[in-house]
Amino acid sequence: MNLNIKCPVCKKQAHATHTPFCSEHCRQIDLGRWLKGVYVVPGRPEDQQQNIDDIDK
Ligand SMILES: [Zn+2]
Repeated sequence: MNLNIKCPVCKKQAHATHTPFCSEHCRQIDLGRWLKGVYVVPGRPEDQQQNIDDIDK
């Protein structure tokens, strides 16, 4: 099947089975990038830990 979509990872033509990616490999690469973005929390984790300690006291 011929799609007019380019894989966002490698810029090859996307495959219908893996839309919008060209392959399962590129899907996993993009998923990994997305998860990294989600788990990067602004600010310092040390401050949050400090607040939890204060509540216990
Ligand atoms: Zn690709």
